[in-house]
Amino acid sequence: MKVPFNDLRALHVPLMDEFKSEIEEILNNCSFISGPKVASFEENFAAAHEAGHCVCVNSGTAALHIALEALGIKAGDEVIVPSNTFIATAEAVSLTGATPVFCDCDADHANITAKAAEERITPKTKAIIAVHLFGQPAPLDELVALAEKKGLMLIEDCAQAHLATYKGKPVGTFGECGCFSFYPGKNLGACGEGGAVITNKTELADKMKAYRDHGSSQKYIHTFPAHNYRMDGFQGAILGIKLRHLADWTDKRRAIAACYDEKLSKISGVELISTLDDVKHVYHLYVIKVQDRDAFMKHLNDNDVQCGIHYPIPCHKQEAYAGEQPQLPNAEKLADEIVSLPIYPDMSLEQAEHVCKIVQEFF
Ligand SMILES: *Cc1c(COP(=O)(O)O)cnc(C)c1O
Repeated sequence: MKVPFNDLRALHVPLMDEFKSEIEEILNNCSFISGPKVASFEENFAAAHEAGHCVCVNSGTAALHIALEALGIKAGDEVIVPSNTFIATAEAVSLTGATPVFCDCDADHANITAKAAEERITPKTKAIIAVHLFGQPAPLDELVALAEKKGLMLIEDCAQAHLATYKGKPVGTFGECGCFSFYPGKNLGACGEGGAVITNKTELADKMKAYRDHGSSQKYIHTFPAHNYRMDGFQGAILGIKLRHLADWTDKRRAIAACYDEKLSKISGVELISTLDDVKHVYHLYVIKVQDRDAFMKHLNDNDVQCGIHYPIPCHKQEAYAGEQPQLPNAEKLADEIVSLPIYPDMSLEQAEHVCKIVQEFF
């Protein structure tokens, strides 16, 4: 049995007719940039996360960038970022001219904690970015409390956590705003690049809209130099269609994860990433920890089970951020032990059980 890491084609086949008809509609009315499909997706995506506003852009990186800019982050400022994240979280900080200051993560649940963030606060710190890594919300209560106590802004990187909840409330509006990616492989993916920021703050939303569109909120009136980060009409249409299935796809991911949890917890040699109480984890990735990783991954690949590492090098060890960096032992240890197993909505429970059998064989 072959188990791919993801299967986007299987996800899209039942939606192909709808995709084609909406794409044809756009080809006919020529609403290629922004337009009604993007506007209606923005409304529905905000509603799905109980947010007042959604500002769509052309990548998750752009979403983080305009959020930071609109919040006034600039050269000379520091923003605390967990080191075990995709590089874009840190890069968005660098794009503003500010410095990403890397903090460690929890050894068990792998997310940023208030304690790890607090250790890295200096007089220059302006904000903290909480990444909901793998689809599991970070401990938001303590992060919100820390931000309040220290007078810092909290930004959520929700690129892996569409529809995840913390104490019953969707991620994205616990701090100033929440930034999402619609990279094709994300839980909600475009057929191209895409991203969005959600917020309950009207003034912030208006500012971000200007940042995505040449510093303009009125045609040919430009109040500051900014970007062209607009979403294209095709992506708005595709995302609008796919959003209607996201809750169902999320349930399917969670069923696969429950099967993995049950079977893999019994295998000595496999350590699971722990899950916080009161969170709804949406399993963008299902990650385990093993000791002899190279041999383990070779065994999986030899048995047609695709796997990956997210991410093999923590940001503070990347050449892009070479220089004086702290030691972050939990992030460094995780990077050496983690393996991401296949998980996607169309994966069958038989496939999940087969993966567990192949894992068991190794040990
Ligand atoms: C994917 C991702 C991003 C960047 O999104 P792009 O759409 O690829 O620019 C940012 N942060 C995290 C945690 C991600 O997983």
